[in-house]
Amino acid sequence: MPPDSLVVHYHEIALKGDNRPLFLRQLIENIQKATQRLGVQKIVAPRGRILLFLEKGANWEEIVGRLGSVFGIANYSPAWRRSTRYEAIEETIAALIPEKAFSSFRMSARRGDKSYPLSSQEMNERLGRFVQERSGARVDLENPERTFHVEILPREALIYTEKVRGPGGLPVGVSGPVAVLLSGGIDSPVASYLMMKRGCTVSFIHFHSYPLVTKASWEKAEELVEHLTRYQYDSRLYAVPFGEIQRQIVAEAPAALRVVLYRRFMFRIAEELARRERAKALLTGESVGQVASQTLDNLAVIQEVATLPILRPLIGSNKDEIIEIAQQIGTYLISIQPDQDCCRLFTPPHPSVRARLEDIRRAEAKLDIDGLVKLGVEGVTIREFRFSQENGR
Ligand code: ATP
Ligand code: MG
Repeated sequence: MPPDSLVVHYHEIALKGDNRPLFLRQLIENIQKATQRLGVQKIVAPRGRILLFLEKGANWEEIVGRLGSVFGIANYSPAWRRSTRYEAIEETIAALIPEKAFSSFRMSARRGDKSYPLSSQEMNERLGRFVQERSGARVDLENPERTFHVEILPREALIYTEKVRGPGGLPVGVSGPVAVLLSGGIDSPVASYLMMKRGCTVSFIHFHSYPLVTKASWEKAEELVEHLTRYQYDSRLYAVPFGEIQRQIVAEAPAALRVVLYRRFMFRIAEELARRERAKALLTGESVGQVASQTLDNLAVIQEVATLPILRPLIGSNKDEIIEIAQQIGTYLISIQPDQDCCRLFTPPHPSVRARLEDIRRAEAKLDIDGLVKLGVEGVTIREFRFSQENGR
């Protein structure tokens, strides 16, 4: 028996105070975008939950899959809307019993409409006896194999059995925009995902040295953004030409300082682009000590050029922990494709792990900083991505 609706629950804790209407409006809008063209007829939000009404023949299994990547959802269930007549409820439960074998169960009735003639307790007892007789299963309140939920609303009853766990977090959009420095590597896509999960909308900035190297890292960045767009529905990728900037750094600065200098230019350019996006922070995939540019000393020297806050959600994570998330969210296989990242271009064998700000400033004095930033910003290629049915798989 295909469900005629889905019931979505969200974490009440995120709903404190004034955030509630914003949170709900954004969550509903995001659910709409995530499930477009799959047969959702209408979305309503009565009392602490969201209901999706499905058209006949809706692709509900696909919708169930999609809701799994909508941040802000605590759990959700395929559901059946019925009249509140006791017999109608019993009949629906009778049809659900054979759909999945179980040896223990629990009834969970909730009477949202207090004028309903039966109390929750009476519903639980009566329906419990019914399920027991029909299925032969025993009641287990602690650890049942199946739970039958019945919610009595003012005009209808809602019946559902299976709760699917949602991703939690906050609906994308409620926390404001940030701009990520996205390499083709493993870490920055994971950092992007984690901030989307906290309600941020992420714009992407990728630095490439094409045509000095192949286009592979740029193409990977595009593939990563396309993939991550399923979590936020609309994305913009700025591809910044970085080869000429690197060439000038290599010509003028000591080899050991190159990587830190590259990074400072990346942050300067990223900040310019971030301001266009009205981003409130920059975001990276950095984690302490992972590579030479990520020692505490170098992180400090690099971020000195930025005025926006820098978010580093992976700063305390181990590589294997980051890889695990990358695998779960589907970016890992894209990230490990071989490329020629611009940071490895002209990288010396012994980059400084403790660059001193005076040395960096002295090296930069020989460079036309504003001119190089302008070169990057003006050479940018912008591509927009939109979530659609096709790239949702
Ligand atoms: P990742 O797996 O994210 O590439 P990594 O371990 O390779 O990280 P680095 O190459 O030192 O580490 O990069 C550190 C951070 O700097 C990245 O997480 C990313 O935010 C940013 N970054 C590095 N290279 C680029 C690039 N080509 N374009 C944009 N951002 C970059
Ligand atoms: Mg990298």
